[in-house]
Parts: sequence; structure tokens; C-alpha cells
Amino acid sequence: MMRPMRCFSCGKPLADKYDEFEKRVEEGEEPEEIFEDMEIERYCCRRMILTSIDATEEMMKYER
Ligand SMILES: [Zn+2]
Repeated sequence: MMRPMRCFSCGKPLADKYDEFEKRVEEGEEPEEIFEDMEIERYCCRRMILTSIDATEEMMKYER
């Protein structure tokens, strides 16, 4: 999986976010809540993280 160090769109550093996000998803947390908790507010950043892990279902919400 591709894990860019920064968001392509806004440049926010995301390198240290993937592991925590992935772990919490596996533990059953809602991606939406995790993003808010981790202060990842922009959809461009959320997309970056979702595309890097196997969360194609969640991706659909952001494909607009
Ligand atoms: Zn971004």
C-alpha cells in the first residue's frame, strides 16, 4: 500500500498517522471519529489515509 509522507493536496504531514488509524479501525472504531480525534479535518487528508489502507468501502463516502 502506498503511504505518502504528506497529503498531496495540502501538505499536512501524515507519516505518523497511518499506524494509529489502521490499528483503531481494526479495533472497530468509526473512521470518522478517529479522524476527528486525530485532528484530521480535511477530506483530502482523510482520502490519503483511507487509500493507503484497505478501506475501499469507507472510500466511497469521500468520492464526491
Ligand atoms: Zn490534506
